[in-house]
Amino acid sequence: MSAPAASGKPARPPLFGTNGVRGVANVDLTPELALRLGKAMGTYFEGGRVLLGGDPRLTTPMLKAAVAAGLASAGCDVRDGGVGPTPAFQFELHHGGYAGGCIVTASHNPPEFNGIKAVGADGSELPRDEEERIEAHYHDQSFRRATWDEVKPLSQEPGINERYMEAILARIDREAIARRDFTVVVDCSNGAACFTAPFLLRRLGCKVVSINAQPDGAFPGHESEPTPEHAVQLIAAVKAFGADLGCIQDGDADRAVFVDERGVYVPGDKSLAIAAAEIVSRKRGGIVVTPVSSSQAVEDMVKAAGGKVTYTRVGSPTVAAEMRRSGAVFGGEENGGLLFPEHQLVRDGLLAIAFFLELLAKRGKPMSELVAKVPRYANVKTKVPCPDAIKTQVLERFRATQTGKVDATDGVKIVNEHGWVLVRPSGTEPLFRVFAEAKEEAEAQKLAEAKKADIERLVRELGKP
Ligand code: MG
Repeated sequence: MSAPAASGKPARPPLFGTNGVRGVANVDLTPELALRLGKAMGTYFEGGRVLLGGDPRLTTPMLKAAVAAGLASAGCDVRDGGVGPTPAFQFELHHGGYAGGCIVTASHNPPEFNGIKAVGADGSELPRDEEERIEAHYHDQSFRRATWDEVKPLSQEPGINERYMEAILARIDREAIARRDFTVVVDCSNGAACFTAPFLLRRLGCKVVSINAQPDGAFPGHESEPTPEHAVQLIAAVKAFGADLGCIQDGDADRAVFVDERGVYVPGDKSLAIAAAEIVSRKRGGIVVTPVSSSQAVEDMVKAAGGKVTYTRVGSPTVAAEMRRSGAVFGGEENGGLLFPEHQLVRDGLLAIAFFLELLAKRGKPMSELVAKVPRYANVKTKVPCPDAIKTQVLERFRATQTGKVDATDGVKIVNEHGWVLVRPSGTEPLFRVFAEAKEEAEAQKLAEAKKADIERLVRELGKP
């Protein structure tokens, strides 16, 4: 279940975390909870038309049915969009006529998890204050209740994945890609990408090799987070087929990560930096939005291309909100979540794949050469155990003792001439995460160790009874 905010324990802990209500299905996330949340969302959507979608997890149909019953009891006209990528449902909302949407998915989490997220009429994640309105209905049980003759039938909304793919194809130079005769391996992670990625790639004129491309909520291939460990099969296939590019999507296919033509995994901050710089140069400037945890390489490349970076708290809804506010040309996260605002203001893994193929086609260079242009930084990640009860105090004391350039956008980030270090309380576990980045590995290690020691000392001092 989503953890309460780090700042103490509110009387009613938030249901929604950074990306919906998450938990182990039938343990935390029961049909009873889903029904009640459906009633709360139906009340919030004032009985309007609601698009319901989900990923191929084993427990998704069960939870969708419960959510649908709750929405319908509030008088909503529930349209079931079937199974597909999160961004496909979000894109469908652009057709209008919906009060909002609800997507049953746990994205990249292990197979026993599931999640429920509410999205607005424009497809974007609801801002926190809107989620709080849903939570208030949930807790107070202040539900809208339709009379028996106002309850609408549940109906299907077919063709969503198709319309979503058409919209992507319309944004991409298909001929440029088709001329190159690319061989592309796509790992669908047995998730929502099975319904779109292999088909879109074929329509782009690529020779497509797809792996883990049968939807299966048990995730038999590997878990659905596109980490290097889960890309082992993809790497082997890229080498075996002599492919030009490998791509892997997470469980709900809103993110994409790449493997170059040599079979080398491309970390998400590098693809983010490449895409950001490309869009800024096409637009001749503009703002790129990314969380404070992103690599300095993103800012280096965006600046060199004539743009500017704005940093936010971690979490794609926050990135999207800042993009909307500032009219940004692009945004993204180091985990492979890229946001193309002219398409939609949410992460879109499939457009990211098509974008990179178009870029490779136009540059006439292999992926490894594009990656080689990204400035190299060393990263060190470590953590410090800390009881939830003193996290806020520890962070405040830590912040007060830091000198130099201190950024408190999310946690505490200290920037000096060698690099930066970010100290953040975990939202889900009793610990602090420490990320450091510098030009040299030894320097990053030194930065991380120094701040880790500071936090350990504060935890000892403030944790004393
Ligand atoms: Mg996801």
